[in-house]
Amino acid sequence: MTDCLFCKIVSGDVPAEIVRESPGTVAFRDINPQAPTHVLVVPRDHHPNVAELVASDAELLAELVRVAHEVAAAEGVAESGYRLVFNTGAQAGQTVFHVHAHVLGGRGLNWPPG
Ligand code: 5GP
Repeated sequence: MTDCLFCKIVSGDVPAEIVRESPGTVAFRDINPQAPTHVLVVPRDHHPNVAELVASDAELLAELVRVAHEVAAAEGVAESGYRLVFNTGAQAGQTVFHVHAHVLGGRGLNWPPG
C-alpha cells in the first residue's frame, strides 16, 4: 500500500535499523523503544492485523513468529524471557495498520500490561 509506513520501511523508502530479514518478513528496531530490546517484525506483504494475516496466510504468520524468536535469541533475551505483542485494533493501541509483532525484552515486564 502506497500510504503505509511499514510498507515503505519494507521497500526501503523510509529508513529503519533492520536487524533480520527472511523471505516473507523484515525485522527492525522500534523508533520509540519501550525496553532495551524492542524490535518490530512485519510481513513484507501488507496485512492490516494479525487476525487478517492468519485468515489469509497462516504460514506467513508462522514464519513471522519464528523470526520473532530468532530476533529474541540474537538479542540475547530468549532465555531470560521476552514478550511478543500484537496490538490489534485502536483500543488495544494499534497505531500502524500493517501487522507487526513487538519483540520486547531486556528488562522485567509488568503484568497486566497497561
Ligand atoms: P502499534 O502502536 O501499532 O502497536 O505499534 C507501532 C509501533 O511503530 C510503535 O511502537 C512506534 O514507536 C513504531 N513506529 C512508528 N513510526 C515508526 C517509524 O517511522 N520507524 C520505526 N522504526 N518505528 C516506528
